Amino acid sequence: MAHELIEAVRSAGVVGAGGAGFPTHVKLASRVDTVIANGAECDPLLQCDQRLMESRAAEIVRGLQLAMEATGAQRGIVALKREYRTAVAALQRVIGSLSGHKEVTLWLLDSRYPAGDEFVLVYEVTGRLVPETGLPLHVGCLVQNVQTLFNIARAAKGAVITHRLLTVAGAVARPITLWVPVGTSVREVLTWAGGIQPPRWSRRTADDYAVVMGGPMMGRVVADLEEPVTKTTSGLLVLPRDSAVVRFLTRSRASWVRRGISTCDQCRACTDLCPRYLLGHNLRPHEVMRAINYGLAWPSDKVTAAVLCCECRLCEAYACPLELSPMAYYLAIKQELRTQGWVNEVHKRTHFRPHPTREYRLVPTHRLIARLGLTEWEHQVCPLDEADYRPSKVTIPTRQHVGAPAQPVVRVGQQVAVGDLLARIPEGELGANIHASIAGRISRVESDLIEITA
Ligand code: SF4
Ligand code: SF4
Repeated sequence: MAHELIEAVRSAGVVGAGGAGFPTHVKLASRVDTVIANGAECDPLLQCDQRLMESRAAEIVRGLQLAMEATGAQRGIVALKREYRTAVAALQRVIGSLSGHKEVTLWLLDSRYPAGDEFVLVYEVTGRLVPETGLPLHVGCLVQNVQTLFNIARAAKGAVITHRLLTVAGAVARPITLWVPVGTSVREVLTWAGGIQPPRWSRRTADDYAVVMGGPMMGRVVADLEEPVTKTTSGLLVLPRDSAVVRFLTRSRASWVRRGISTCDQCRACTDLCPRYLLGHNLRPHEVMRAINYGLAWPSDKVTAAVLCCECRLCEAYACPLELSPMAYYLAIKQELRTQGWVNEVHKRTHFRPHPTREYRLVPTHRLIARLGLTEWEHQVCPLDEADYRPSKVTIPTRQHVGAPAQPVVRVGQQVAVGDLLARIPEGELGANIHASIAGRISRVESDLIEITA
């Protein structure tokens, strides 16, 4: 049974929908006692997980049960924010109707950032502490995003990944959450949402807005509106170019590093609010600022602690009163460590305790939203629109996941139907299959993309 499910998930091209796109079949091959469905929807303004839990609760719970069976887990827990009342009610109805299955329960989270970080989530839900540079698997947990579990349930019935549920929010005429064929351009999705529309009271024009792919914390600004939606695109946010979010996301890492030189006043706010420091990991961002800015002869573990940073951006976007970025230092250090082939023998502690005042230092999401200048959109609703949107063309990247790019198995001129295999995992490599998201003719095949014209 487990083998069949893993093979079905592998064939379907399922990848982690809430992060970098780690191939799901690999995770399902592990042994754990607890599977956690991650419905925390970490980044502000995104609503796709919330809408999915409201509308597809049964499939999500089915995917959770399948993941439990595959991994031998005794417990399945759906973790979502308490404030998602409709989703909570939908999940309660489904879980209440289960019979003869292993235990599935709900865990309600307060709205804090980063609630969906795997290490934070595992601690909140189970009280277990993931070791430094470890994985939830090391403490018997598997964490899967709710859209990934939905896709697992569909893969078990033979369906492959062709669409992605995502939120279009911010300054658009019709904020929505919709199913988008993978490979659709950002421009076309914005059109389906009515296009960029500044608020009536604003003097801005459409040109004064930028599009952020993903959330305001973990996303990035889209440089070209022809860029395609992928299996991991959780949202498109249309925000003013002069907003703090766009300003921060477009500032180069080198510029962040330059700004920090000699400016840091060592107030420690970045450390005091760092979610990994609060869990007990030996990560103190203010120390790396001191070590680098003042050239002090710190022990090198202050620098190599960069590998403990989860890149949540809380230090630069919320904590630091001077708009400095310890994370930029950590990113540069990580890059340098990779270049040097550095092997981590230091940051592997397994025994530590969370900070005694952690509970009082967690960052409420509404405070983060205010700090990011997004209050205008805090209560914007992006309802689910189930219309069958079809673009005239899709450009599907062969790498939408962690691992090697998939290898094309189609040629120019070939006709394909929705769900046909376009590219497969290279032999012996980590990766994910890619399928046609629309019916049409293959109009371009390159090693990094396949284009279909409807
Ligand atoms: S980005 Fe900053 S706040 Fe987040 S884990 Fe890294 S150092 Fe800590
Ligand atoms: S919060 Fe900013 S100023 Fe304070 S220690 Fe951290 S980097 Fe320096």
